[in-house]
Amino acid sequence: VVSPPPVQNGLASTPKEPNGTNHSGEGRLQIVNEHQEFTKQLSPYLDKWGLLDKGFAYDVVSVFGSQSTGKSTLLNRLFGTTFDVMDESKRQQTTKGIWMCPSTYGNTLVMDVEGTDGRERGEDQDFERKSALFSLASTEVLIVNLWEHQIGLYNGANMGLLKTVFEVNLGLFGGGGDSSKPKPQEKTLILFVIRDHVGATPVSNLTATLTQDMEKIWASLSKPSHLADATLSSYFDLSFATLPHKILMPEKFEDEVLELRRRFTDRSRSDYVFQPSYHKRIPADGVGFYMEGIWQQVLTNKDLDLPTQQELLAQFRCDELSAAVTEIFLASSKIVRKPVEAGQVVEGLGALMKDWLDTALGKFDRDASRYHAGVYQRKRLDLLTGLHASLSSLFLGQLKNLHKIETAKFSKDIVRGTKEVGYDFAKVVNEGSDNARQRFLDGAKEVKIDGTDWEYEHELALLDEDLKSIADRCRADETKKMVNTIERNVKRQLLEPVEVALSQPSVEMWNIVLKTYKQVNEDAEQSYLTKAKAYNCSEEENNAALLSLRARTWLSLRRKLEEQTSDATILATLRSTFEEKFRYDESGVPRVWKPEDDIESAFTKAKEETLSLLPIFASISPTSSSLLPTLPSPESTFDIESDPIPFDPSTAFVLLSPTKILSIESRFKREADAAYVEAKRSMVSSVAQ
Ligand code: GDP
Ligand code: MG
Repeated sequence: VVSPPPVQNGLASTPKEPNGTNHSGEGRLQIVNEHQEFTKQLSPYLDKWGLLDKGFAYDVVSVFGSQSTGKSTLLNRLFGTTFDVMDESKRQQTTKGIWMCPSTYGNTLVMDVEGTDGRERGEDQDFERKSALFSLASTEVLIVNLWEHQIGLYNGANMGLLKTVFEVNLGLFGGGGDSSKPKPQEKTLILFVIRDHVGATPVSNLTATLTQDMEKIWASLSKPSHLADATLSSYFDLSFATLPHKILMPEKFEDEVLELRRRFTDRSRSDYVFQPSYHKRIPADGVGFYMEGIWQQVLTNKDLDLPTQQELLAQFRCDELSAAVTEIFLASSKIVRKPVEAGQVVEGLGALMKDWLDTALGKFDRDASRYHAGVYQRKRLDLLTGLHASLSSLFLGQLKNLHKIETAKFSKDIVRGTKEVGYDFAKVVNEGSDNARQRFLDGAKEVKIDGTDWEYEHELALLDEDLKSIADRCRADETKKMVNTIERNVKRQLLEPVEVALSQPSVEMWNIVLKTYKQVNEDAEQSYLTKAKAYNCSEEENNAALLSLRARTWLSLRRKLEEQTSDATILATLRSTFEEKFRYDESGVPRVWKPEDDIESAFTKAKEETLSLLPIFASISPTSSSLLPTLPSPESTFDIESDPIPFDPSTAFVLLSPTKILSIESRFKREADAAYVEAKRSMVSSVAQ
């Protein structure tokens, strides 16, 4: 045993302690006070220390060991922190609690525990146990500080406390489920720092003893049944360092401290302490909430495990982040809601929506992905569902507006197309409808967001229906227009010949009329069928149009015949027939009656012959009844007033009633008689000359 050199001006040779400030000028923080209350200031302090936005890029180290073993001194030397050190001259007690201070060297949070040495004073170890448990659960590296001469002395090295802490730690935070393997972030590095190392006992012996002690402690732990097979090494890695006597060998002490510091700062070293597997994976902005949760668990000793605490934290933070991005998202989407509700098709709406989504999710992913993976994924899904739901009304609105605008465009296209000379109606309709459909589909696809169950098939089917009914309506109008044109032609071709025929009554009269009628009918139908081909009309529509055309043609004929068989017209016809027979001779020369002429019989002959023609007008009566047309059905017509007479076989061919014939006959006779008297008179007067 080498006896230490006498203390000489020990304090004076100690390098000056940092003056209580550090990188951002803010000192240490008491995170748990003497009343065992956790601070509300941790996050603000992390912010002041410049660590709040570091994500995972920070580390936590804390210390464990008996009172007055130089723990605070070590931390201050190693990390440039400002923890209270017991003043040897006054033996003044420092304030009880857990303290935190950032390291001057890198993004490291250092925690120091101050407590009364209850064990030595016979007090209860409540606070020591709690603070030790807290340190173990919340740090990556736990420095176990002990004198060289404490090694192997079970109680002296606080091993009993360590055992309790291990036990509770395993029970509280050892992981649930049936896996006996801890999660990666549940592993912790225990770094033994052997103080006042004299060097008489080789370090390897010391570390072997400590390792054996730890294994013994581990073996003696009462473990939860599902962790019965858990090994020490699956929860802890052990590492060792020695330091010479600070007061007796101050320079050597400083050199070794510097060397030890490198293990906390130099990532390239194989014994670098902050290995990723020790990191608790709590983003820096969640540390305040997380550590407070652990402290609460320690305090209440609830049978909760660490992942649960992480999940609670994750839920809390993810909800906050989700609400924040949703608010921005809703503000962005607000600008298009009005136009969409007002019936406008918003150009590039899909791209806008995707942009808002990307922005919101990007922000959420950046900040929330650092938290508990399961919770983050679940909250992300919730967020996405919410955002999609708020967009779906825009999607549906845009579809409805597309539908409305495209049907309107289609109607206009038809109107414009059918104004052009020589237009092909079927082509106009097909092109217009194809274009409208394509534009709708383009718009609908643009506004659909991948990963949603939104569909536009239903709205497309509605559009197809509307386009079809617009096309049908237009075709019906077109067909009507065409039938009207043909009807005008029919009248032109039919009425003149019929009038001529009826003004020269004879037995052949009806044959001529009906033959003309038949021909005109055939021409009209042919003309319709030729034109209708271009309209893409259905068989049904063609039949309806043809039936209508037939009915109109027949009605034209019938009306013309009624006109030609009116009292006045018939009388005029009879008069001119009679005059032709009575007043003109066979060669068409006007007769000048002489006394020897037989006016009487000439008159009787002309009158009888004329009167014999009158019954011909009574009904449409061709020489062969096969010439009579088949009557069209009035039901199949459009645009004609329903008058049953022209379509009823019992009345359709009848033009004059027997009474009517009698009345015309008597009127004609009176006129003929007058002609006779006049002829007589003219003869007498010519004789008198
Ligand atoms: P803590 O209670 O474990 O935090 O111990 P402190 O850091 O407050 O120090 C307690 C006393 O031990 C102080 O008087 C220090 O000067 C002294 N001390 C600090 N480091 C060493 C060391 O390496 N060796 C010895 N023997 N004493 C030390
Ligand atoms: Mg201390």
